[in-house]
Amino acid sequence: MRSTILVTGGAGFIGSHTTVALQEAGYRVVILDNLCNSKPDVLDRIAQITGIKPEFVEGDVRNDRGLDRLFETHAIAAVMHFAGLKAVGESTGQPLRYYDNNVSGSVHLLQAMDQASIKTLVFSSSATVYGDPQKLPLAEDHPRSATNPYGHSKLMVEDILEDLYRATPGWRIARLRYFNPVGAHPSGLIGESPQGVPNNLMPYIAQVAAGRHPRLKVFGNDYDTPDGTGVRDYIHVMDLAHGHVAALKYCEHAAQELLTVNLGTGRGYSVLEMIRAFEHASQKSIAYDIVARRPGDIGACWADTRLAAEKLGWHADKGIAEMCNDAWRWENVPT
Ligand code: NAD
Ligand code: UDP
Repeated sequence: MRSTILVTGGAGFIGSHTTVALQEAGYRVVILDNLCNSKPDVLDRIAQITGIKPEFVEGDVRNDRGLDRLFETHAIAAVMHFAGLKAVGESTGQPLRYYDNNVSGSVHLLQAMDQASIKTLVFSSSATVYGDPQKLPLAEDHPRSATNPYGHSKLMVEDILEDLYRATPGWRIARLRYFNPVGAHPSGLIGESPQGVPNNLMPYIAQVAAGRHPRLKVFGNDYDTPDGTGVRDYIHVMDLAHGHVAALKYCEHAAQELLTVNLGTGRGYSVLEMIRAFEHASQKSIAYDIVARRPGDIGACWADTRLAAEKLGWHADKGIAEMCNDAWRWENVPT
Protein backbone atom coordinates (compact mmCIF):
# COMPACT_ATOMS: atom_id res chain seq x y z
CA MET A 1 0.00 0.00 0.00
CA ARG A 2 1.30 3.45 -0.92
CA SER A 3 0.84 6.49 1.31
CA THR A 4 -2.35 8.20 2.49
CA ILE A 5 -3.67 11.12 0.47
CA LEU A 6 -6.16 13.70 1.72
CA VAL A 7 -8.62 14.53 -1.07
CA THR A 8 -10.54 17.72 -0.29
CA GLY A 9 -13.78 17.88 -2.27
CA GLY A 10 -13.42 14.14 -2.89
CA ALA A 11 -17.19 13.57 -2.91
CA GLY A 12 -17.52 15.87 -5.94
CA PHE A 13 -17.26 15.17 -9.65
CA ILE A 14 -13.52 15.24 -10.29
CA GLY A 15 -12.49 14.34 -6.73
CA SER A 16 -14.56 11.13 -6.71
CA HIS A 17 -13.07 9.91 -10.00
CA THR A 18 -9.59 10.81 -8.80
CA THR A 19 -10.22 8.89 -5.58
CA VAL A 20 -10.95 5.82 -7.72
CA ALA A 21 -7.72 6.35 -9.68
CA LEU A 22 -5.70 6.86 -6.48
CA GLN A 23 -7.10 3.72 -4.87
CA GLU A 24 -6.46 1.73 -8.03
CA ALA A 25 -2.86 2.99 -7.95
CA GLY A 26 -2.54 1.66 -4.38
CA TYR A 27 -3.00 4.86 -2.35
CA ARG A 28 -5.17 5.14 0.75
CA VAL A 29 -7.62 8.02 0.51
CA VAL A 30 -9.20 10.19 3.18
CA ILE A 31 -11.90 12.51 1.81
CA LEU A 32 -12.71 15.85 3.42
CA ASP A 33 -15.90 17.37 2.01
CA ASN A 34 -18.64 19.59 3.41
CA LEU A 35 -21.15 18.08 0.93
CA CYS A 36 -22.28 21.51 -0.27
CA ASN A 37 -22.32 20.17 -3.83
CA SER A 38 -22.26 16.39 -3.42
CA LYS A 39 -23.90 13.49 -1.62
CA PRO A 40 -22.35 10.88 0.70
CA ASP A 41 -23.67 7.92 -1.33
CA VAL A 42 -20.71 8.46 -3.66
CA LEU A 43 -18.56 6.72 -1.02
CA ASP A 44 -20.43 3.42 -1.40
CA ARG A 45 -20.31 3.80 -5.14
CA ILE A 46 -16.53 4.25 -5.03
CA ALA A 47 -16.39 1.12 -2.85
CA GLN A 48 -18.43 -0.78 -5.46
CA ILE A 49 -15.85 0.17 -8.12
CA THR A 50 -12.61 -0.32 -6.20
CA GLY A 51 -13.59 -2.64 -3.34
CA ILE A 52 -12.41 -0.03 -0.83
CA LYS A 53 -14.58 2.58 0.85
CA PRO A 54 -12.54 5.74 1.32
CA GLU A 55 -12.49 7.16 4.81
CA PHE A 56 -14.76 10.19 4.96
CA VAL A 57 -14.51 13.26 7.15
CA GLU A 58 -17.44 15.63 6.79
CA GLY A 59 -16.04 19.11 7.22
CA ASP A 60 -14.99 22.37 5.68
CA VAL A 61 -11.50 23.34 4.52
CA ARG A 62 -12.00 26.67 6.28
CA ASN A 63 -12.34 24.97 9.69
CA ASP A 64 -8.86 25.22 11.23
CA ARG A 65 -9.58 22.99 14.20
CA GLY A 66 -11.07 20.32 12.00
CA LEU A 67 -8.02 20.38 9.73
CA ASP A 68 -5.58 20.23 12.64
CA ARG A 69 -7.46 17.27 14.11
CA LEU A 70 -7.49 15.51 10.75
CA PHE A 71 -3.73 15.94 10.31
CA GLU A 72 -3.08 14.85 13.91
CA THR A 73 -5.10 11.66 13.56
CA HIS A 74 -4.09 10.58 10.04
CA ALA A 75 -0.63 10.11 8.55
CA ILE A 76 -1.34 12.24 5.47
CA ALA A 77 1.53 12.31 2.97
CA ALA A 78 0.02 14.68 0.40
CA VAL A 79 -3.14 16.66 -0.33
CA MET A 80 -5.20 16.92 -3.50
CA HIS A 81 -7.26 20.07 -3.20
CA PHE A 82 -10.50 20.00 -5.21
CA ALA A 83 -12.82 21.64 -2.67
CA GLY A 84 -14.25 24.86 -3.98
CA LEU A 85 -17.14 26.50 -5.78
CA LYS A 86 -17.09 26.47 -9.58
CA ALA A 87 -20.08 28.24 -11.16
CA VAL A 88 -18.78 31.19 -13.17
CA GLY A 89 -22.13 33.03 -13.39
CA GLU A 90 -22.89 32.55 -9.71
CA SER A 91 -19.44 33.88 -8.79
CA THR A 92 -20.25 37.21 -10.44
CA GLY A 93 -23.30 37.64 -8.18
CA GLN A 94 -21.66 36.27 -5.03
CA PRO A 95 -17.98 37.27 -5.19
CA LEU A 96 -17.36 37.18 -1.45
CA ARG A 97 -18.71 33.65 -1.15
CA TYR A 98 -16.35 32.58 -3.92
CA TYR A 99 -13.28 34.31 -2.49
CA ASP A 100 -14.07 32.95 0.96
CA ASN A 101 -14.51 29.38 -0.22
CA ASN A 102 -11.85 29.18 -2.91
CA VAL A 103 -9.16 31.61 -1.74
CA SER A 104 -9.62 31.68 2.02
CA GLY A 105 -10.32 27.93 2.02
CA SER A 106 -7.00 27.30 0.26
CA VAL A 107 -5.11 29.58 2.68
CA HIS A 108 -6.56 27.77 5.71
CA LEU A 109 -5.67 24.42 4.19
CA LEU A 110 -2.11 25.54 3.39
CA GLN A 111 -1.61 26.91 6.90
CA ALA A 112 -2.73 23.63 8.43
CA MET A 113 -0.51 21.67 6.05
CA ASP A 114 2.47 23.89 6.86
CA GLN A 115 1.85 23.43 10.57
CA ALA A 116 1.69 19.67 10.13
CA SER A 117 4.78 19.68 7.83
CA ILE A 118 2.80 18.24 4.93
CA LYS A 119 4.25 19.95 1.89
CA THR A 120 2.97 18.06 -1.12
CA LEU A 121 -0.09 19.51 -2.86
CA VAL A 122 -1.92 18.96 -6.12
CA PHE A 123 -4.24 21.90 -6.84
CA SER A 124 -7.24 22.14 -9.18
CA SER A 125 -6.67 25.15 -11.37
CA SER A 126 -8.41 25.80 -14.66
CA ALA A 127 -7.83 26.84 -18.25
CA THR A 128 -10.01 29.81 -17.33
CA VAL A 129 -6.78 31.46 -16.08
CA TYR A 130 -5.76 31.99 -19.73
CA GLY A 131 -8.64 34.41 -20.33
CA ASP A 132 -9.36 35.08 -24.00
CA PRO A 133 -6.68 33.10 -25.90
CA GLN A 134 -4.18 35.17 -27.84
CA LYS A 135 -2.66 32.07 -29.39
CA LEU A 136 -3.76 28.45 -29.76
CA PRO A 137 -2.99 25.87 -28.57
CA LEU A 138 -2.76 27.32 -25.07
CA ALA A 139 0.68 26.72 -23.59
CA GLU A 140 1.41 27.13 -19.90
CA ASP A 141 3.37 30.36 -20.50
CA HIS A 142 0.37 32.08 -22.13
CA PRO A 143 -0.48 35.32 -20.26
CA ARG A 144 -3.08 34.88 -17.54
CA SER A 145 -6.18 36.97 -16.94
CA ALA A 146 -9.64 36.64 -15.47
CA THR A 147 -12.98 38.26 -16.14
CA ASN A 148 -15.02 36.94 -13.20
CA PRO A 149 -14.54 36.18 -9.49
CA TYR A 150 -14.25 32.41 -10.10
CA GLY A 151 -11.38 32.98 -12.53
CA HIS A 152 -9.80 35.50 -10.17
CA SER A 153 -9.99 33.02 -7.33
CA LYS A 154 -8.00 30.48 -9.39
CA LEU A 155 -5.42 33.12 -10.36
CA MET A 156 -5.08 34.19 -6.75
CA VAL A 157 -4.55 30.66 -5.44
CA GLU A 158 -2.02 29.97 -8.21
CA ASP A 159 -0.12 33.09 -7.04
CA ILE A 160 -0.40 32.19 -3.36
CA LEU A 161 1.09 28.78 -4.14
CA GLU A 162 3.97 30.38 -6.01
CA ASP A 163 4.68 32.76 -3.11
CA LEU A 164 4.57 29.87 -0.66
CA TYR A 165 6.91 27.79 -2.80
CA ARG A 166 9.41 30.65 -3.00
CA ALA A 167 9.20 31.47 0.71
CA THR A 168 9.43 28.01 2.25
CA PRO A 169 11.83 25.28 1.16
CA GLY A 170 10.55 21.81 0.53
CA TRP A 171 7.13 22.41 -0.97
CA ARG A 172 6.17 20.18 -3.87
CA ILE A 173 3.23 21.73 -5.66
CA ALA A 174 1.41 20.85 -8.88
CA ARG A 175 -0.98 23.42 -10.30
CA LEU A 176 -3.11 21.52 -12.80
CA ARG A 177 -5.01 23.57 -15.35
CA TYR A 178 -8.01 21.55 -16.46
CA PHE A 179 -9.68 22.09 -19.78
CA ASN A 180 -13.32 20.88 -19.99
CA PRO A 181 -13.85 17.74 -17.88
CA VAL A 182 -16.78 15.61 -19.06
CA GLY A 183 -17.98 12.00 -19.04
CA ALA A 184 -18.24 9.65 -16.10
CA HIS A 185 -16.75 6.44 -14.77
CA PRO A 186 -17.47 3.66 -17.31
CA SER A 187 -19.24 1.62 -14.59
CA GLY A 188 -22.02 4.22 -14.56
CA LEU A 189 -21.71 4.34 -10.76
CA ILE A 190 -20.23 7.84 -10.39
CA GLY A 191 -20.47 10.94 -12.55
CA GLU A 192 -21.34 14.62 -12.55
CA SER A 193 -24.48 15.68 -10.65
CA PRO A 194 -25.12 19.34 -11.31
CA GLN A 195 -27.72 20.89 -9.01
CA GLY A 196 -30.59 22.60 -10.81
CA VAL A 197 -30.31 23.45 -14.48
CA PRO A 198 -26.75 22.74 -15.70
CA ASN A 199 -24.61 25.62 -16.94
CA ASN A 200 -22.17 23.41 -18.80
CA LEU A 201 -22.74 22.01 -22.26
CA MET A 202 -22.30 18.26 -21.75
CA PRO A 203 -24.67 17.77 -18.79
CA TYR A 204 -27.23 19.99 -20.54
CA ILE A 205 -27.03 17.94 -23.74
CA ALA A 206 -27.37 14.74 -21.70
CA GLN A 207 -30.49 16.09 -20.01
CA VAL A 208 -32.04 17.10 -23.36
CA ALA A 209 -31.33 13.61 -24.72
CA ALA A 210 -33.01 12.16 -21.61
CA GLY A 211 -36.07 14.36 -22.18
CA ARG A 212 -35.53 16.50 -19.06
CA HIS A 213 -35.36 19.69 -21.15
CA PRO A 214 -37.04 20.17 -24.52
CA ARG A 215 -34.19 21.91 -26.36
CA LEU A 216 -30.59 23.03 -26.04
CA LYS A 217 -29.61 26.65 -26.53
CA VAL A 218 -26.47 26.96 -28.64
CA PHE A 219 -24.80 30.17 -27.53
CA GLY A 220 -23.73 31.81 -30.80
CA ASN A 221 -22.79 30.55 -34.26
CA ASP A 222 -20.77 33.57 -35.33
CA TYR A 223 -17.44 32.75 -33.70
CA ASP A 224 -14.30 32.46 -35.79
CA THR A 225 -14.45 28.64 -35.73
CA PRO A 226 -15.14 26.12 -38.55
CA ASP A 227 -18.92 25.97 -37.91
CA GLY A 228 -19.22 29.25 -35.99
CA THR A 229 -20.03 27.62 -32.62
CA GLY A 230 -17.70 27.63 -29.60
CA VAL A 231 -14.83 25.15 -29.57
CA ARG A 232 -13.51 23.54 -26.36
CA ASP A 233 -11.02 20.87 -25.36
CA TYR A 234 -13.23 18.26 -23.67
CA ILE A 235 -11.35 15.75 -21.55
CA HIS A 236 -12.71 12.52 -20.10
CA VAL A 237 -12.82 12.77 -16.31
CA MET A 238 -10.98 9.43 -15.90
CA ASP A 239 -8.12 10.70 -18.06
CA LEU A 240 -8.08 13.79 -15.85
CA ALA A 241 -8.05 11.57 -12.75
CA HIS A 242 -5.03 9.64 -14.06
CA GLY A 243 -3.31 12.96 -14.76
CA HIS A 244 -3.61 13.71 -11.04
CA VAL A 245 -2.00 10.43 -10.06
CA ALA A 246 0.83 11.15 -12.52
CA ALA A 247 1.30 14.64 -11.03
CA LEU A 248 1.36 13.23 -7.50
CA LYS A 249 4.00 10.67 -8.44
CA TYR A 250 6.04 13.40 -10.13
CA CYS A 251 5.93 15.51 -6.96
CA GLU A 252 6.80 12.52 -4.77
CA HIS A 253 10.07 12.14 -6.64
CA ALA A 254 11.11 15.80 -6.36
CA ALA A 255 13.01 17.47 -3.52
CA GLN A 256 10.98 20.59 -4.21
CA GLU A 257 8.82 21.52 -7.16
CA LEU A 258 6.38 24.04 -8.54
CA LEU A 259 4.84 22.40 -11.56
CA THR A 260 2.19 24.12 -13.66
CA VAL A 261 0.69 21.94 -16.33
CA ASN A 262 -2.31 21.73 -18.65
CA LEU A 263 -4.56 18.69 -18.53
CA GLY A 264 -6.39 18.55 -21.84
CA THR A 265 -6.45 16.44 -25.00
CA GLY A 266 -5.00 19.02 -27.39
CA ARG A 267 -8.06 18.76 -29.65
CA GLY A 268 -11.09 21.05 -29.76
CA TYR A 269 -14.69 20.18 -30.62
CA SER A 270 -17.47 22.61 -31.49
CA VAL A 271 -20.89 22.67 -29.86
CA LEU A 272 -22.43 21.21 -33.01
CA GLU A 273 -19.84 18.41 -33.10
CA MET A 274 -20.65 17.63 -29.46
CA ILE A 275 -24.37 17.50 -30.25
CA ARG A 276 -23.76 15.06 -33.11
CA ALA A 277 -21.46 12.87 -31.00
CA PHE A 278 -24.02 12.75 -28.22
CA GLU A 279 -26.84 11.92 -30.63
CA HIS A 280 -24.75 9.02 -31.85
CA ALA A 281 -24.01 7.76 -28.32
CA SER A 282 -27.57 8.11 -27.07
CA GLN A 283 -29.42 7.30 -30.29
CA LYS A 284 -31.67 10.27 -29.44
CA SER A 285 -32.09 13.41 -31.44
CA ILE A 286 -31.13 16.62 -29.66
CA ALA A 287 -33.25 19.62 -30.55
CA TYR A 288 -31.48 22.95 -30.38
CA ASP A 289 -31.85 26.63 -31.17
CA ILE A 290 -29.07 29.00 -32.05
CA VAL A 291 -29.29 31.95 -29.67
CA ALA A 292 -27.07 34.94 -28.84
CA ARG A 293 -23.54 34.47 -27.52
CA ARG A 294 -23.31 33.91 -23.76
CA PRO A 295 -21.72 36.99 -22.17
CA GLY A 296 -18.09 36.41 -21.23
CA ASP A 297 -17.66 33.33 -23.49
CA ILE A 298 -14.56 32.89 -25.60
CA GLY A 299 -14.66 31.45 -29.12
CA ALA A 300 -12.14 28.63 -29.01
CA CYS A 301 -9.78 27.05 -26.54
CA TRP A 302 -7.65 23.94 -26.55
CA ALA A 303 -4.53 22.81 -24.73
CA ASP A 304 -0.92 22.50 -25.66
CA THR A 305 -0.32 19.09 -24.09
CA ARG A 306 3.43 18.80 -24.62
CA LEU A 307 4.49 19.77 -21.12
CA ALA A 308 2.19 17.20 -19.51
CA ALA A 309 3.60 14.51 -21.80
CA GLU A 310 7.19 15.58 -21.14
CA LYS A 311 6.98 16.05 -17.37
CA LEU A 312 4.33 13.52 -16.37
CA GLY A 313 4.51 11.00 -19.19
CA TRP A 314 0.73 11.43 -19.28
CA HIS A 315 -1.67 12.01 -22.12
CA ALA A 316 -5.41 11.67 -22.50
CA ASP A 317 -6.51 8.37 -24.08
CA LYS A 318 -10.27 8.59 -24.31
CA GLY A 319 -11.99 10.16 -27.28
CA ILE A 320 -15.24 11.96 -27.69
CA ALA A 321 -17.26 8.76 -28.27
CA GLU A 322 -16.23 7.37 -24.87
CA MET A 323 -16.94 10.72 -23.23
CA CYS A 324 -20.48 10.74 -24.63
CA ASN A 325 -21.14 7.01 -24.05
CA ASP A 326 -20.05 7.25 -20.41
CA ALA A 327 -21.98 10.48 -19.80
CA TRP A 328 -25.08 8.87 -21.32
CA ARG A 329 -24.76 5.71 -19.22
CA TRP A 330 -24.47 7.89 -16.08
CA GLU A 331 -27.46 10.01 -17.15
CA ASN A 332 -29.59 6.86 -17.21
CA VAL A 333 -28.62 5.59 -13.77
CA PRO A 334 -31.62 5.72 -11.44
CA THR A 335 -30.92 8.12 -8.54
P1 NAD B 1 -17.75 19.68 -7.54
O1 NAD B 1 -18.61 20.78 -7.05
O2 NAD B 1 -18.40 18.46 -8.11
O3 NAD B 1 -16.78 19.19 -6.35
C1 NAD B 1 -16.29 20.06 -5.38
C2 NAD B 1 -16.49 19.39 -4.02
O4 NAD B 1 -15.96 20.26 -3.00
C3 NAD B 1 -17.97 19.17 -3.69
O5 NAD B 1 -18.15 17.82 -3.25
C4 NAD B 1 -18.25 20.15 -2.57
O6 NAD B 1 -19.23 19.65 -1.66
C5 NAD B 1 -16.88 20.32 -1.94
N1 NAD B 1 -16.63 21.61 -1.29
C6 NAD B 1 -16.85 22.86 -1.78
N2 NAD B 1 -16.45 23.78 -0.90
C7 NAD B 1 -15.94 23.11 0.16
C8 NAD B 1 -15.34 23.51 1.38
N3 NAD B 1 -15.21 24.82 1.70
N4 NAD B 1 -14.92 22.58 2.24
C9 NAD B 1 -15.05 21.25 1.95
N5 NAD B 1 -15.61 20.81 0.82
C10 NAD B 1 -16.05 21.74 -0.07
O7 NAD B 1 -16.71 20.31 -8.56
P2 NAD B 1 -15.67 19.59 -9.55
O8 NAD B 1 -16.18 19.76 -10.94
O9 NAD B 1 -15.36 18.23 -9.07
O10 NAD B 1 -14.43 20.56 -9.40
C11 NAD B 1 -13.37 20.28 -8.50
C12 NAD B 1 -12.33 21.38 -8.59
O11 NAD B 1 -11.87 21.47 -9.93
C13 NAD B 1 -12.86 22.77 -8.21
O12 NAD B 1 -11.84 23.44 -7.50
C14 NAD B 1 -13.09 23.42 -9.56
O13 NAD B 1 -12.96 24.82 -9.49
C15 NAD B 1 -11.97 22.81 -10.39
N6 NAD B 1 -12.26 22.82 -11.83
C16 NAD B 1 -13.41 22.22 -12.28
C17 NAD B 1 -13.70 22.27 -13.64
C18 NAD B 1 -14.98 21.65 -14.17
O14 NAD B 1 -15.37 21.98 -15.30
N7 NAD B 1 -15.65 20.76 -13.46
C19 NAD B 1 -12.81 22.89 -14.54
C20 NAD B 1 -11.64 23.46 -14.05
C21 NAD B 1 -11.38 23.42 -12.67
N1 UDP C 1 -22.77 26.10 -24.55
C1 UDP C 1 -23.94 26.18 -25.28
N2 UDP C 1 -25.12 25.93 -24.62
C2 UDP C 1 -25.18 25.60 -23.31
C3 UDP C 1 -23.96 25.52 -22.58
C4 UDP C 1 -22.78 25.79 -23.23
O1 UDP C 1 -23.92 26.47 -26.47
O2 UDP C 1 -26.27 25.40 -22.77
C5 UDP C 1 -21.48 26.33 -25.25
C6 UDP C 1 -20.65 27.47 -24.68
O3 UDP C 1 -21.03 28.69 -25.29
C7 UDP C 1 -19.23 27.01 -25.02
C8 UDP C 1 -19.31 25.49 -24.93
O4 UDP C 1 -20.69 25.17 -25.06
O5 UDP C 1 -18.92 27.36 -26.36
C9 UDP C 1 -18.80 24.94 -23.61
O6 UDP C 1 -19.46 25.60 -22.53
P1 UDP C 1 -19.24 25.15 -21.03
O7 UDP C 1 -20.06 26.08 -20.17
O8 UDP C 1 -19.52 23.69 -20.89
O9 UDP C 1 -17.68 25.34 -20.77
P2 UDP C 1 -16.80 26.70 -20.75
O10 UDP C 1 -17.50 27.74 -21.55
O11 UDP C 1 -16.71 27.05 -19.31
O12 UDP C 1 -15.50 26.30 -21.33
